[in-house]
Amino acid sequence: MLRKPALTIFQKMLVAPLVGVLLYSAYLFFSHHERQAGSGAIEEIRTIYLPALDLAGGNVIVFDTMVSTFKDAVLAGEEEWVRNTGKEKARIEANLAHLEGHVPVVDPARVRQLRAALVRYHENAHALSLAMLRGDTDTERANHLIENVERYHGQARAGFQGMKVDLQDGFTRRVDETLQRSRFQLMAATGLGVALIVVILGVTFAMSLSTRDALREVNQAFKNMAQDRPDFSRRLTRASRDELGELVGWFNLLSDKLENDHKQIERLSITDKLTQLYNRTRIDELFLLELSKARRYGYPLSVILLDLDHFKAVNDTWGHQTGDRVLRELADILRHNVRDTDHVGRWGGEEFVILAPNTGPDPALAMAEKLRAAIAAHTFPEVGHKTGSFGVASYLDGDDEDSMTRRADEHLYAAKKQGRDRVVGA
Ligand code: GH3
Ligand code: MG
Ligand code: MG
Repeated sequence: MLRKPALTIFQKMLVAPLVGVLLYSAYLFFSHHERQAGSGAIEEIRTIYLPALDLAGGNVIVFDTMVSTFKDAVLAGEEEWVRNTGKEKARIEANLAHLEGHVPVVDPARVRQLRAALVRYHENAHALSLAMLRGDTDTERANHLIENVERYHGQARAGFQGMKVDLQDGFTRRVDETLQRSRFQLMAATGLGVALIVVILGVTFAMSLSTRDALREVNQAFKNMAQDRPDFSRRLTRASRDELGELVGWFNLLSDKLENDHKQIERLSITDKLTQLYNRTRIDELFLLELSKARRYGYPLSVILLDLDHFKAVNDTWGHQTGDRVLRELADILRHNVRDTDHVGRWGGEEFVILAPNTGPDPALAMAEKLRAAIAAHTFPEVGHKTGSFGVASYLDGDDEDSMTRRADEHLYAAKKQGRDRVVGA
């Protein structure tokens, strides 16, 4: 029997949108993750890198200002200015304290080193400036201070500048990364969009095409069945297991049924109901067919007519049903005593006809004689022995069905006249 379809057409139509939703969900998941990372990076730039850069840049400027102040103070002879550098130092220290909070962009150990260098530089520069202002420059202490000022100035200046440059580099790298990420996201979105369109179009197209082709085939098959001379032997192959496949299955079952019915009708239309021999209609058709072969190829052809003798008496004595049984038995005798190529039919009433292709006058007479003997020898239940009279005619140039049957009928009449139970031919 028909199996349930694996995937209905409705379900098949859902495949493309479902694939789309799946792909899109995957993208949303991915892009959410990416967006979070991106906004994290921007947040980091905004809250850490920009202020840190500001502070680090400020340090370099304030430090340079402090150095100039020391020099100006010595040149101008202003001790007050030297003391004022404490404010600049305090400002840098405050900056450094802020910077220390910007982990991991700023290394706290580095900040501590810078602070130490700053403190040492300021200490020594402060002391040196005051010594110079007081004219105390040629002592060993002054020389030692100069050495320290040079060393710590170098360390602090390079340190502040280095921190600024490193922060700038980090900032640039972070911005580049973020840009790269958003560019990649854009590409992924575009790629996914194209992939979605291709997949949805492809799946929809393939499904529609196969469904359309299958529908066309089924359509054509049904159209063929509705025509005047349908070919009931045609079957469809079941390509799919959906509703269409089911339809094809039903079509094939219907075709089986119609083919059988059609054969049955054809058989009935050419068969005599009582005897199951050919009826008059079929014998007429076969006669025309055999006549055309006889004419075209010069084959011999004979026709034998048979009428049961005194059959009316059977009906009168034993009844119509017994008469029918005798007719059926007679049909069996005829069937069993002719060749496969011969055609046996009921001509009407208790008259029968045998068409014998490829059979000339003598073999036809012999055949009729054999049949006559077989009937005469048979014992019909109740009725006993019955006989038949035979008229035989063979094809002559210019003959048609009428002329041949007329001759056979004349011979049959002659056989009756001569006393029945005999064969008369040309
Ligand atoms: P004859 O020897 O001259 O042929 O005598 P007959 O009695 O056979 O005469 P006829 O051929 O005229 O009679 C035909 C009879 O066959 C008439 C009818 O009662 C009978 N008959 C015709 N068809 C059937 C049939 O289908 N069934 C039965 N039971 N009888 C039939
Ligand atoms: Mg008769
Ligand atoms: Mg008769």
